[in-house]
Amino acid sequence: MSAIDVERLSEPERLLWRYGVTRPEHIDLDAIADDQGAPVRYAPLCGCEARLVAIGKRAAITVNSGCRPERQRFSVGHELAHWMRDRHTGGFQCAQEDISPQNVKAKSAEAEANAYASQLLLPNYLVDPWIQGRKTSLETAKQLGQDFRASLTASAIKLVKRSAVAACVLCHKPHGLSWSVRNDAMPEDTYIPSELSYETAAFGMVFDDGERMSRPAVEPASRWVSSQALRTAEVESQSVRLSEGVVLTVIGVKTSAAAAKRQSAPRR
Ligand SMILES: [Zn+2]
Repeated sequence: MSAIDVERLSEPERLLWRYGVTRPEHIDLDAIADDQGAPVRYAPLCGCEARLVAIGKRAAITVNSGCRPERQRFSVGHELAHWMRDRHTGGFQCAQEDISPQNVKAKSAEAEANAYASQLLLPNYLVDPWIQGRKTSLETAKQLGQDFRASLTASAIKLVKRSAVAACVLCHKPHGLSWSVRNDAMPEDTYIPSELSYETAAFGMVFDDGERMSRPAVEPASRWVSSQALRTAEVESQSVRLSEGVVLTVIGVKTSAAAAKRQSAPRR
């Protein structure tokens, strides 16, 4: 892999780097937690998704064994973040809604733990070279998740955030938009309407239990976003039903060759 400027890495990335992580399969969060004095145990939990019990310089992390493996991994990252960052504040009991890759913006210990966990599972220094030359699509997010053992949601968010192409991740439920994440390449005037267009494949997927994943489609950007700058643009979109009534979509703005060239400069 190319040379890494360790000084520019984020705190969780530096932690991985110190443990010699140079490939996705090297990321062993249980071993890191154990070495940091916070061994991880998996057990059925009631009323929370994961917890951290701290006593002095030692701690114990417990993760709900009833969740999917990628979900458990994100929870380990989240609790490890509390231990590395917030240990002075004592223990944590974290609910399902606290531990979610889309919740990284609020100024709270939970949001910061999610951002930290996202960097532990999908560190930029490994993701950036991985996404080079790949399309910003749900299919790519799925592969990213497989290679890094991360959930599809966490992988789609990371892919979009690190992509040079203007792109968004959207999550819809029957009542409309549940949450969305866009990258900095999206025009500033972009507004994401709360109502899902009936012309999208996602519309049918929110309301019935037909196909699980739609085919990639090229369609007017206006079906997904409202923006003066994108009023004649097209997007490539693809949607997947995560669970009943919950549909995740990745859209990437189709660019002309010249515009694509301008956007291809690597970002950090
Ligand atoms: Zn938490």
